[in-house]
Amino acid sequence: EHATTEQLKQNLHEQGVKYALGGYVDLHGVIKGKFVPLEHLGRMMKGSELYTGAALDGVPQDISDNEVATMPDAATATVCPWNPELAWFASDLYLDGAPFEACSRNILKRQVSLAADLGLTFNLGIETEFFLFKDSDDGSFEPISARDTLAKPCYDPRGLMDNMPIIGELVEAMNAMGWDVYSFDHEDANGQFETDFTYTDALGMADRLVFFRLMANEIARKHGAFASFMPKPSATRTGSGAHYNMSLADRETGKNLFDVANGSDPHGCGVTEMAYHFIAGIMKHAKAISAVIAPTVNSYKRLVRKGSMSGSTWAPVFVCYGNNNRTNMLRIPSQGARVECRAADIACNPYMGAAMMLAAGLEGIREGMDPGAPHRENMYNYTDQQVREMDIEMLPQNLGEAIDAFEADPLSKAVFGDAMFASFVNYKRQEWTEYHTHVSDWELKRYLKFF
Ligand code: GLU
Ligand code: MG
Ligand code: MG
Repeated sequence: EHATTEQLKQNLHEQGVKYALGGYVDLHGVIKGKFVPLEHLGRMMKGSELYTGAALDGVPQDISDNEVATMPDAATATVCPWNPELAWFASDLYLDGAPFEACSRNILKRQVSLAADLGLTFNLGIETEFFLFKDSDDGSFEPISARDTLAKPCYDPRGLMDNMPIIGELVEAMNAMGWDVYSFDHEDANGQFETDFTYTDALGMADRLVFFRLMANEIARKHGAFASFMPKPSATRTGSGAHYNMSLADRETGKNLFDVANGSDPHGCGVTEMAYHFIAGIMKHAKAISAVIAPTVNSYKRLVRKGSMSGSTWAPVFVCYGNNNRTNMLRIPSQGARVECRAADIACNPYMGAAMMLAAGLEGIREGMDPGAPHRENMYNYTDQQVREMDIEMLPQNLGEAIDAFEADPLSKAVFGDAMFASFVNYKRQEWTEYHTHVSDWELKRYLKFF
């Protein structure tokens, strides 16, 4: 902790920092902001950097509106490991001197503070699946190493060994920032990796995820590659999830309230009654939440049973929960007293995603909701029809359905605030309309000369 901005400036200066970036995120959870020479850190920390609202993609501001200001969070000061001349700060947006309602970080902070009022801390670990590709001469892209084209790349150490210049640098950078990477691997698609690190409070985790995407991009670029957070770049391989591992802790004692050491386990999956209420709340709002945690047209190509050459995609299709079973949307892993939401993908805005999940989970707790019996069987083996007969809902099949569900669910507006709610629906509906009115190569191939 730095007692004063002057001390912080001195400390950063000693580490070789020349510029500070008070970064906010847009609707997509992409970091934006200006570089401020370190001499001006004091001004920056007080909100000197102004941005025209209309430049914030998907944010309800017009060019005629007052500018928004970034208010950097001093506790997040981070020297960028790949470029020690630059320090990054996660920042909140302010408008006319008050927290801006449509700021992603403020959206999560509002839910975190509602949880705090109940004496709860929302802990979150997000698993980072992503691709490393390089541009190929014909204008397309390919996996970074030839051995990424192994027929069954999942957990194959050779896929990692080839790519340690990038992956090793990324992992070292994560650890230099104190993120505590505990394992990393090659996933089941060519050029797909995952670097897992220890959970923290939800706001801290969301800050890390948006920074992670920026950092992975920059480190990959240094090595002539690029990082892709597209949820499903290849139709025949698995996509990139961003599994949210969630638990609630007692704010005072830090005790994990999902841990059966601290409560009874009515459904036998290894978590407390509170965790089942939390699960039930998320299930109730799952379709609306999907629009936020699976936010792109492409996201819904990941949420399918099959598609991988090797069989399963390990991505959920139905709104259901279970034990240590990867075919459920909500899984209770055998370790860690937590609930894993598998529907989220790596293109999500983690502030908004965590806010929706927490709000839904808290509703489940407040109302003592019960999720019913867990599913221990392979859910992929049921047909859509069978699943309907079991009264299990399907996750949205496309972005259009997800936006409809988001718009229809009162939770969405409560979490986003009126203006951001309207803006999000509008932006995402346009994205969907643009996609489904586009005539694709697939259609031309199939129909042009068919009839
Ligand atoms: N890649 C899968 C997904 O899209 C998850 C695989 C795993 O369980 O690690 O969610
Ligand atoms: Mg994985
Ligand atoms: Mg997982």
